[in-house]
Amino acid sequence: MHTIVVLFNRVLRLHDHPALATALRRAERVVPLFVVDPAIVEGSFGAPNRLGFLAESLVDLRGQLRGLGADLVVRRGDPVHETLAVARSVGATAVHVTDDVSAFAAARQRALCAAAALERVEVSAHPGIGIVEAGAVTPTGGDHFKVFTPYFRAWSRLPRRPLAARPRALRLPDGIDIGPEIDDVLPPAGRAGGSPQRPPGGETAGRAAFARWKRAGGPAGYEDGHDALAADRTSRLSPYLHFGCLSPLELAARLGEEAGPGGEAFTRQLCWRDFYHQVTAAFPAIARRDYRSRSDRWSEDEEAVEAWRTGRTGYPIVDAGMRQLLAEGWMHNRARMITASFLIKDLGVDWRIGAAHFLHWLCDGDIAQNSANWQWTAGTGNDTRPNRVFNPLRQAERFDPEGDYVRRWVPELAGLDDKVVHRPWALGAERPTRYPPPIVEHERAAEAFRARRAEQQRLAL
Ligand SMILES: Cc1cc2nc3c(=O)[nH]c(=O)nc-3n(C[C@H](O)[C@H](O)[C@H](O)COP(=O)(O)OP(=O)(O)OC[C@H]3O[C@@H](n4cnc5c(N)ncnc54)[C@H](O)[C@@H]3O)c2cc1C
Repeated sequence: MHTIVVLFNRVLRLHDHPALATALRRAERVVPLFVVDPAIVEGSFGAPNRLGFLAESLVDLRGQLRGLGADLVVRRGDPVHETLAVARSVGATAVHVTDDVSAFAAARQRALCAAAALERVEVSAHPGIGIVEAGAVTPTGGDHFKVFTPYFRAWSRLPRRPLAARPRALRLPDGIDIGPEIDDVLPPAGRAGGSPQRPPGGETAGRAAFARWKRAGGPAGYEDGHDALAADRTSRLSPYLHFGCLSPLELAARLGEEAGPGGEAFTRQLCWRDFYHQVTAAFPAIARRDYRSRSDRWSEDEEAVEAWRTGRTGYPIVDAGMRQLLAEGWMHNRARMITASFLIKDLGVDWRIGAAHFLHWLCDGDIAQNSANWQWTAGTGNDTRPNRVFNPLRQAERFDPEGDYVRRWVPELAGLDDKVVHRPWALGAERPTRYPPPIVEHERAAEAFRARRAEQQRLAL
C-alpha cells in the first residue's frame, strides 16, 4: 500500500494545501505530520504570541483531521530526523512539503532532501505560502525584482494555479503512533507573557475572521479606508496568512470575484507579501544585513529605545502604535511605518533593534515581511526614496484626524480634544502630568538624520 508523509510547516490548513492534496491523489495512506522543533519553542523564535497562535492552529488542524477520519501526527525533536523516522516506520516512499523562503526554512529543506536521499525517500516540494512563488517570475538579467511596481506588473500577468480542494477523507496507516497532545509539546508556560488581546489561532478562526470582514463591507471600504488608523478597516488577516491558516491565493480568488477596487487594492497588498518573499529568497541574510548598505552609524541610547518599546516617547501617535502592539500582538500598518520610522530616523537607532522587538510581539511576525518592511523604512531595503522621514505629527493629523486612535491606546490623553491630542506639549503647564514630554524634537532629529546620510553618501563617493 502506497504511503506518503505530508510534513506541515507553517501552512496549517486543509483548504488549498497543494502538498496534502497531491499526496492524497498519489497514495492510499497519508500521514499529516507536524514536528515541534525545540529551536522554535526555546530558541530565538520563542515569541509568546506566536507560540500561542501556533498551538491553537495545531489544535484546530488536529480537530479538522479527526473529522476526516485521520489525525495530526505530532513529534518533538529535529524535524529531519523525526520526519524520516515516521516515514521509515510506515514504509512511506515520499515526503511532501510546502516550499518556504527564509534561510532557516531553506536550510531545513536542504537537510531533509540530503538525508531522505540516503534512504531513497523522495522529497516533493509544493507551493502554498504565496499567490506566486518566489522565483516564478524574474526580471531580464536578474534573479529577483528589486522594485515593487515592475514586479506587480509581471506578477499580475502570471496565470494562477488552480486552488487545491479540501480533502473529504483521509486514511492513516494502521497502528501509527499519533504522538503527544499539543499542550504537552507546546506547554502553556512557554506561551505565558503574551498579549492579552491576541487573536485566536487556527484555520477555523481565520475563515471566520475573513467572513466577518467581508460581511462588514471590509473589501468595499479597503481602498479608501486602509490607512485610517481609528477606523481599523484593514482585514487583520496577517497572522492567519503568516501561519498559512488562510491561503492568499484563495483570498485573492474570492475577492477578485466581487469586490471591485477594494478587492484590487487588497490583492496588491498580497502582492507586496510575495514581493518580499522573492527578495528574501534571493537575499537570505535579510534579517541581519542591510540589503543596500547606507553605512549608517547608530545611536546606542538604551533609555530612548526603552521609551519607544513601552510607548512613552511623548509622541502620542508613536506611543499609541507601540501600546497596541503590546496589547494585541498586532499593529496597524500605518502605525508600523510611523513607529519604525521614528525609531530609526528620529532616535537614530539600528532598524534591527526595532525589528527584533516587533518580531517578539507580532502574531504575524515573519522573517521576510518584518525584516523587509523594516529595511524599507530604514531606506536600506526596497524603498526608492531611502532618505524619506515620516513626520509623526503630520502623519497623525492625516491618518488619525480626530485623535480617536490615540485616545484608544493612550488613556492618559483620553480627555484631550482633537486640537491638542497629538501635541499635548502645546498645553504647557496644563498638559497631563502622567504623560511624558517628547524625548526628541522631530525637526531637529530629522535634519540630523539627513545630514548623517548625506555625509555617508559623500564619503562613499
Ligand atoms: C515595520 C513593519 C514591520 C512589518 N512586519 C510584518 C510582519 O512581521 N508580518 C507581516 O505579515 N506583515 C508585516 N508588515 C506589513 C503590514 O504592516 C502587515 O502585513 C499588515 O499591517 C497586516 O494587517 P492586515 O492583515 O490588516 O493587512 P491588510 O491591509 O488587510 O492587507 C492584507 C494582507 O496583505 C499583506 N500586506 C499588507 N501590507 C503589507 C506590507 N507592507 N508588506 C507585506 N505584506 C503586506 C499582509 O499579509 C496582510 O494581511 C510590517 C510592516 C512594517 C511597516
